[in-house]
Amino acid sequence: MIYLDHAATTPVPRPVADAMYQVLTEQFGNPSSQYPLGREAKALVEEGRAVVAGALGCRPENLHFTSCGTESDNWAISAAVWQGRHTGRHIITTAVEHSAVLEPCKLLQQQGYEVTYLAPDKTGHVTAEQVAQALREDTVLVSMMLVNNENGCRLPVENVFRMVKRNDPEIITHCDAVQGFLKIPFKPRTLCADLVSVSGHKVHALKGVGALYIRHGVRVKPILCGSEQERGLRPGTESVPLIASFGAATEKLSLNIEERLERVSQLRSSLIAQLREMDGVIIRDIEGASPYVLNISLLGYRSEIVLHYLEQREVYVSSGSACSRGASSGVLELFGAKPAEVDSALRISFCAENTEEDIAALVQGLRDAQKELMH
Ligand code: PLP
Repeated sequence: MIYLDHAATTPVPRPVADAMYQVLTEQFGNPSSQYPLGREAKALVEEGRAVVAGALGCRPENLHFTSCGTESDNWAISAAVWQGRHTGRHIITTAVEHSAVLEPCKLLQQQGYEVTYLAPDKTGHVTAEQVAQALREDTVLVSMMLVNNENGCRLPVENVFRMVKRNDPEIITHCDAVQGFLKIPFKPRTLCADLVSVSGHKVHALKGVGALYIRHGVRVKPILCGSEQERGLRPGTESVPLIASFGAATEKLSLNIEERLERVSQLRSSLIAQLREMDGVIIRDIEGASPYVLNISLLGYRSEIVLHYLEQREVYVSSGSACSRGASSGVLELFGAKPAEVDSALRISFCAENTEEDIAALVQGLRDAQKELMH
């Protein structure tokens, strides 16, 4: 199998899975229980928190586990508008955010909030100037993703948040870093972010765990009501195996971020070079993009047809965001793609374990698709 869809999800490495088997079968206590099995489970949760927080560059007490990146994003948006409820009802975000940010914003619009959705400019970038022009007296939140999940575009989060905080320190800044965590070096503090969302299954942990960094001093409404877990902000018995897997996967990846970045950049460059030798391929090689994602169009061939053609060779890529089930999310259009290009778009997303052979197999698959499939 040649898996090139790591922006959708990632495999769990065998040592992480083995360690989780032990957690499931032997260290299964409730972290709130007062006997050794419970204390052991609590220690696993706190170990996981320390590792993920360490990799993110924050203190463990500022990291709160959730069930996924979507929950972290939803929570961040609701937390920010709650904190700013006496100040205003205006939100700034970008039109290219993941639906986990866009949908809660749309919901807030129905409740009377005004949302400014900034689209990329001609160069394919959202700029700090655009955000500066959109800022208002009643702005309570600026939410901007670190890396776009469909084309790898890096957004200027640090510049934007720094400018926002200079303008008005009370405005809450949220960064959806789901596609950036453990891939692109960053820290909440250097981004000037009050809230940062990350997700476990994008970084080789089990599915069903995410986290939200909450800067000290940001007052956050609990997302659930119940007991005291996660400082009372996200109550519910902690999923020890999921959290432990997040810690174990993070521990491994945090050791060599730069090395993997280099390796993945080489793979991406090699793929681009080979695609350039083909006719009818549009390559969205956005300046400064994360090397982990490349979006292309095989002009004249619908994405789903090519996907299914490739899957017969056990080569897996996607047509866009996995969450939109192949339907266009509208993001590529915003980045300037024409309808025919969107219909034939393919997202290729790497991990450092991918090889030149994987790239060659994909390119051969695309070449054969051009020969064998109906235009
Ligand atoms: N944000 C971005 C940028 C994503 O790519 C994704 C998932 O693809 C999410 C949020 C949602 O994360 P999760 O699948 O953990 O809910």
